[in-house]
Amino acid sequence: MRIETEDRPDRPQEECGVFGIYGHPQAAPLTYYGLVALQHRGQEAAGIATTDGIKMYSHKGLGLLTDVFKHGELEGLVGHAAIGHVRYSTAGANTLQNAQPITLSTHARNIAIGHNGNLVNAKWLRIRLEQEGSLFQTTTDTEVIAHLIAKAGEDDLAEAVATAAQQIQGGFSVVILGNDELVAVRDPLGLRPMVLGQLGQAYVVASESCALDTIGAEFIRDVEPGELIRIDAHGLESSRFATRRARKMCTFEHVYFARPDSDVDGWNVHAVRKRLGKILADRYPADGDIVIGVPDSSVSAAAGYAEASGLPLETGLIKNRYIARTFIQPSQELRDTGVRLKLNAVRSIVEGKRVVLIDDSIVRGTTSRRIVRLLRSAGALEVHVRISSPPYVSPCHYGIDTATEAQLIASNHSVEEICDVIGADSLSFLTVDDLMAGFGFEQGDTVPFCNACFTRNYPTTLIDQTLREPHHELVHVGGPTNGSV
Ligand code: AMP
Ligand code: SF4
Repeated sequence: MRIETEDRPDRPQEECGVFGIYGHPQAAPLTYYGLVALQHRGQEAAGIATTDGIKMYSHKGLGLLTDVFKHGELEGLVGHAAIGHVRYSTAGANTLQNAQPITLSTHARNIAIGHNGNLVNAKWLRIRLEQEGSLFQTTTDTEVIAHLIAKAGEDDLAEAVATAAQQIQGGFSVVILGNDELVAVRDPLGLRPMVLGQLGQAYVVASESCALDTIGAEFIRDVEPGELIRIDAHGLESSRFATRRARKMCTFEHVYFARPDSDVDGWNVHAVRKRLGKILADRYPADGDIVIGVPDSSVSAAAGYAEASGLPLETGLIKNRYIARTFIQPSQELRDTGVRLKLNAVRSIVEGKRVVLIDDSIVRGTTSRRIVRLLRSAGALEVHVRISSPPYVSPCHYGIDTATEAQLIASNHSVEEICDVIGADSLSFLTVDDLMAGFGFEQGDTVPFCNACFTRNYPTTLIDQTLREPHHELVHVGGPTNGSV
């Protein structure tokens, strides 16, 4: 069954979280807890693969971690090394098929792979691999990486991964489990985040540092763009599969996606968001009585705005935290009757007030329109919307799932038109220079960030965009189960 909601764009993409650990007798439970800390990066599927040095074990399924591992499956995942994955996707019926880690057996070894990001040449590589005889089970970029690793045929897993990593382009943070080793790679531009930590004798890699904190591991450093890390019984070894070049870390991780308690490439996410809120207040003031942030991702920016403007910060919107994307969402008809599952406004706070509403981004505009309406129906006199990022004008090709260009309201509307569409009294966005100022950069500086969704200036060529879409589709019918794959 395909569940369509207003909140999900109809485009298969991956926005995921990865975790890996080597050298701990409790590898599977620690991976589970690490993934719980990364659950915000994906709520639609989850999985863990482990190895005891001889055999590989894996389990994955649809839903939150608590759904996938509720029948004691963790106990069967034995071994001292593990990788795990949480997935956000929009591919309906075949989500389980596309769930990760992907596992495969080659003549040389068992391999499990988990990937966060999106490749810009996956379709192109897939065509090449198919012509060379590879058969694909899934529609993920991850399987392309798996085939490239298997094809590399090297005796040494790390060398095979390096060979594969040199052929893929785009955003990728990948964890690979071999018979008795863990390999991790981060894309040469550093588009997707990845950190390295230590827990006693064990090494840990994860999409975000909050996963290290959660399991009590010590943060060592960010994995370098273009770096390959191999961890096995002899310890940790670092090498490069790509030459060093200018970094292009995704700013949207800081704006919206990452958890505020994470540090990404040396910047704390909460601190960046708070600074962006301050910049917003300094440059785009509003005649308001109170400041309200859209929970959860805009709470830090709202705190910064309130501090800089001197206006009181209020909790005027309450979010229900128990709604996962897999939850049955109300139809448009039910929503029109006033079903407010996700957010509600606090009347006693907003009634009779001029509200300055802080949100991190406007993608399609539906959320802002709904929230402005919600605040007005709770008695707000005026709603002035301030967005702590620039207009989102162009789709991401590196692993953040947004929408097609036509669905991006800022790609075809001016700020005044958007203000009209969302029904606000006034609307302002940050500029790209304002956004960079949040990281301490000045106008004209060379910045270590990707801002392509705000500037249309992509840091890689978009190879697959030149290929035509295939006209045939394979539809899998029948309910997927939560069985081991
Ligand atoms: P929209 O209704 O499409 O304008 O949604 C914008 C809202 O969704 C903002 O409040 C953001 O916090 C949030 N948001 C931004 N990017 C994403 C994304 N890639 N996936 C899900 N939610 C997002
Ligand atoms: Fe991040 Fe935007 Fe670049 Fe995608 S295009 S990696 S969302 S900054």
